[in-house]
Amino acid sequence: MVAEITPKFADDHRFAADDEGVVTPAILNPGASSPLYLQLQRQLRGLIQAGEWRPGMRLPAVPQLAGRFQVHRLTVLKALAGLKRTGWVQTVQGRGSFVADRLPEAPGLRPDSAFPFEGSARLASEGELGSWLGETLEKAQDTHLVSFSAGFIPTDLLPLEPLRKLTTQVMRDLGSEAFMYAAPAGHAPYLQAVARWLESEGEPIPEGWGVRAIPGAQAGLALVVEALTVPGDRILVESPCYVGALALIHALGREAVPIQVDRAGLDPDRLASALQRAEAKLLFTVPSFQNPTGMTLSTQRRERILALTRAHGVTVVTDSAYGDLRFTGKSLPPFRCLEDAEHVIHLGTFSKSLAAGLRLGYLVATEGMLRRLAPVQEVHQIAMNPLTQAVVARFLDGGGFKRHLVRLRRALKERRDAMVEALQEHFPQGTEFTEPKGGMHLWVVLPEGISAMDLHREALAEGLGFAPGPLFFADRRGTNCLRLNFSTHTPEVTRDAIARLGRLVHRLQNPAKNR
Ligand code: PMP
Repeated sequence: MVAEITPKFADDHRFAADDEGVVTPAILNPGASSPLYLQLQRQLRGLIQAGEWRPGMRLPAVPQLAGRFQVHRLTVLKALAGLKRTGWVQTVQGRGSFVADRLPEAPGLRPDSAFPFEGSARLASEGELGSWLGETLEKAQDTHLVSFSAGFIPTDLLPLEPLRKLTTQVMRDLGSEAFMYAAPAGHAPYLQAVARWLESEGEPIPEGWGVRAIPGAQAGLALVVEALTVPGDRILVESPCYVGALALIHALGREAVPIQVDRAGLDPDRLASALQRAEAKLLFTVPSFQNPTGMTLSTQRRERILALTRAHGVTVVTDSAYGDLRFTGKSLPPFRCLEDAEHVIHLGTFSKSLAAGLRLGYLVATEGMLRRLAPVQEVHQIAMNPLTQAVVARFLDGGGFKRHLVRLRRALKERRDAMVEALQEHFPQGTEFTEPKGGMHLWVVLPEGISAMDLHREALAEGLGFAPGPLFFADRRGTNCLRLNFSTHTPEVTRDAIARLGRLVHRLQNPAKNR
């Protein structure tokens, strides 16, 4: 039986609060690449999921909805058709549309999932996975594939023209200096520009701390591991973890000790018990928009993790690769800006926020720590090139980087929305996935029993790529998980490719029915 209640619109719909409770209002954006009917469909489903529209309630009439969201009636009809098809809404002949009596379990992160990210208990077998980054990078760059396996900046958003102009200027102004070794700590104007940028973001470098140039976050991590640990040492890592960190730790003969990540990031309780059990030297974490889950550590957890590691004499290496790519709200303070954070080493990179080919980042640590790291960095690379450092310094100082970030964040948000909508629409019930508030990727847990490796094989045969879950676990878990990067492709390409991937998932789930 359906209730005869027409729900009122609350004007403060709260279905997009970020980590700090900042609410994003529900607005349809005709300029967005996501079609209006899909945006509307998402908003209406959000009202149902948030419990504002309850099962059995009569929906407002089409003209009323059209007026409220300022769209054409046909747009409303198209959105309602989508909601009907996916089981959120039912129509009763002659009486209108109602919220379904029994709501479908939409793909998405279930509120009651305590820890969904490792997926089923099955482990991938030795040899079931190919090599790590080399393979993913190669696949991601294969133009015959629509690949979601690596996080690239949308190529149309690379600020090529400003970079070209600045490069010409720098070559003219620096002359031969542009092609000499830079100072070992980095080109001075670059270090100053980075410090000013961090200060303008409310994250200044305090007294007694300093900054060094590094050729990207991966090189920064390698430097820290080599300088502060010896083979056989234990390094605490997130589980799932950035695949490049796992591979590095393995290649250098150190041992990765996994600590589970949940919807609020690295779990401090599990960290506490690991610290009791394992004599570890380092903790490696990606606190904001973590790779691969997209989750962000709350400030409270950051403070606890800081205190726990300090008490155990463990150095914390924070990788802020995606920190600048927040779509909404305010950034959370990095570990190094919290109290008593002298045991923190902060890695920053321009690979995700500007251009990966620059191979440029920075490392912030106490002066004492920088003195320990400097000799190791020098034997590896002697010095870095001044040209790219000078170009990025001018891009930062002239305000170009800030303007570029505004465009980049907007584009990434649109791409995330397109992927989330497509996953909701095309993946089977029981699929869980994260909806990150920044960064470049999200994490999908498929219904139990579907193998991400089988899906990967079938997807490649159909020209689709993604990163299978077990790549991200020291112990080869995650066999029904996948990481999808939403940054590389346009919303249109993403929607189409996710629909195709969804069909493959349905086929694997139910081979007989879908032959
Ligand atoms: N850290 C994380 C978390 C990453 O995702 C990546 C790239 N995928 C890197 C580091 C590597 O960054 P870079 O290009 O600065 O070495």
